[in-house]
Amino acid sequence: MLVDAARAAIAEGAPERARAHADRMRQMLLQRVINGTGTLLHTNLGRAPNGVHQDAGFRNLELDLGTGERGSRQAHAPKLFAQLCGAESAIVVNNCASAVMLILAALADDRGVAVSRGELVEIGGGFRVPDVMEQSGATLVEVGTTNRTRAADYQRRIDDPATDIALIMQIHQSNYKITGFTEMPSTASLATLGVPLVADIGSGLLDAACPWLSDGPPPWLAEEPAAKQTLSEGAGLVAFSGDKLLGGPQAGIIAGDAELVDACARHPLARALRPGGLVLGALQELALAYLRRDGDAIPFWRMATTPIESLVARAESIVEATGIGAVADTMAVPGGGTLPTVEIPSIGITVAGDHRATLRSRPVAIMARIEEDTTVIDLRTIDPEDDVLLTAALRDI
Ligand SMILES: *Cc1c(COP(=O)(O)O)cnc(C)c1O
Repeated sequence: MLVDAARAAIAEGAPERARAHADRMRQMLLQRVINGTGTLLHTNLGRAPNGVHQDAGFRNLELDLGTGERGSRQAHAPKLFAQLCGAESAIVVNNCASAVMLILAALADDRGVAVSRGELVEIGGGFRVPDVMEQSGATLVEVGTTNRTRAADYQRRIDDPATDIALIMQIHQSNYKITGFTEMPSTASLATLGVPLVADIGSGLLDAACPWLSDGPPPWLAEEPAAKQTLSEGAGLVAFSGDKLLGGPQAGIIAGDAELVDACARHPLARALRPGGLVLGALQELALAYLRRDGDAIPFWRMATTPIESLVARAESIVEATGIGAVADTMAVPGGGTLPTVEIPSIGITVAGDHRATLRSRPVAIMARIEEDTTVIDLRTIDPEDDVLLTAALRDI
């Protein structure tokens, strides 16, 4: 690669640019970056930060160490997540989009799925509910209106002999809000209509009580549906992402009634959508942290709940040490297509001018945001251990 960089520079008649070519190649590689944007789940930075190191070597991915017989990759992390959600069973697939796809293919092939017109949404990057439905082989049966849907609207379609409704699907309004003259039925009221209720809750909040946080749930989580409560209100299945509020790697988790989960696990698509050992290993560490009620071990929750005073103290000491920039109040956001109207008070360091390219070119790239002509580096999304790298970068500015 270095020879290529040198040749490219020579071909341009500018051998001194070889270093710039090499640096550009380095920037093209996947690498750790420091997130100073204030967006906790930054789509371009892989959503939730990774908090797990893994040992080299073999793993008992599909081996039962007790019996020595063939085991299942769904026997480790998925079991722990079932326990955390109060579900009979769970499986893990590649992401939440695949979870929805698999559920529809396994439980509603050639049959109808009732969805409110207020939930026929685009989650982002081509994941549109009507399109996914069509791909899966299920038939979309629209109920209600964009702003108001009632349980009776679903009931009418279920009772209609001309439609064959296999499932009701509720899709959480993760990344948008409909306000004003609105009405949506509760999970509990949809759970008693005679067909299984599947809830795509998307964000992966496990339990509304947040027992892993010593101070309980933060106020900005108030309206977010949680897996445990959605299941206890009667949903047959929930589906959610691994890398949003759950705080883990990219994955999709399906949890709920054993019979429904088994039907998904047996479907041929399950093999095509299954995760690898690296992801399952990271998810298992995450699940164990939740079971220990150790939110501090989960980088997403640590960042989300850091008290403002400790951000102020860090910002002041960095500004003092470098003699550059100023401490400023900022607003961080959850991001990643979750909690569209939520802001979390935060603290940043502001520096006059646009220094984003310089910060990105650091040995560990630092991502900042720009407001008017000021660079803003939000400390809520930066691990305190990286303050030393931020300090060095600011000194260079
Ligand atoms: C984010 C989201 C998805 C897609 O999840 P991926 O893990 O990105 O595939 C699906 N449904 C809802 C409601 C979501 O919020």
